[in-house]
Amino acid sequence: MKTINQKYPLIWRKDDFFIKIYSSIPNISTGILITTDKATFIVDPGDGILRDLNKDVGAVTILKVSDIFISHGHHDHIGGVWSLLTYLSVLRKKSALNIYYPKGGKEIESIYHAFQKVYRKELSYQIHLQPLDNEKSFRRESITIKPFRVNHRELSSDGISTEPVPSLGYKFIYDSKSICYGGDTAYCGSLVKHAKDSDLAIVEAGAKNNTVSELHMTIEQATQIGKTAKDYFLVHVPE
Ligand SMILES: [Zn+2]
Repeated sequence: MKTINQKYPLIWRKDDFFIKIYSSIPNISTGILITTDKATFIVDPGDGILRDLNKDVGAVTILKVSDIFISHGHHDHIGGVWSLLTYLSVLRKKSALNIYYPKGGKEIESIYHAFQKVYRKELSYQIHLQPLDNEKSFRRESITIKPFRVNHRELSSDGISTEPVPSLGYKFIYDSKSICYGGDTAYCGSLVKHAKDSDLAIVEAGAKNNTVSELHMTIEQATQIGKTAKDYFLVHVPE
């Protein structure tokens, strides 16, 4: 079995297709950078993403970020959005920024509207919210992005039952190589399908005590999916 208590960051590269997972710790933070020679994307900008990017790649690369992909609105996946958006304006970013997220994701929309209210007059760049309500592929900076629905839930207000959360995984395909990121999900057919034969699959194993859950996958389930890809990382493992 793959080592599960990996030390972050996790890094994978094929030619100029590069991914760095700064962290993926349940209830704390996720933060992922994807680059090619032409593209600079961020996936799930959780708390600390700006600190990690600043330390690792610096302002010149941060300014190149054109697209942010959000798997779902839980705080450990979007907690760094406000500071990142603000810093881009401090740097006087000029080109537009797209934020892709599952339609119905109220957290990111709330952050966006509050952010616009505070900074609209002085913001140096445009932000385009891009809610995704289907699984159609699209292209950005020579990368094909295939969003796919996954099956993530959260506790209801009664603290006992659960309800579905708008949530997506993303497959990034570049130069006939592919990275599949499942976000947070219980075991689901769409992730099984998209992870298979990917060059890299990033699969969450967030079920507490490794017991079957309707919110997250066990290490066994995640490993089973990961093994169908050419390489894989298990992430979001409780520490
Ligand atoms: Zn979540």
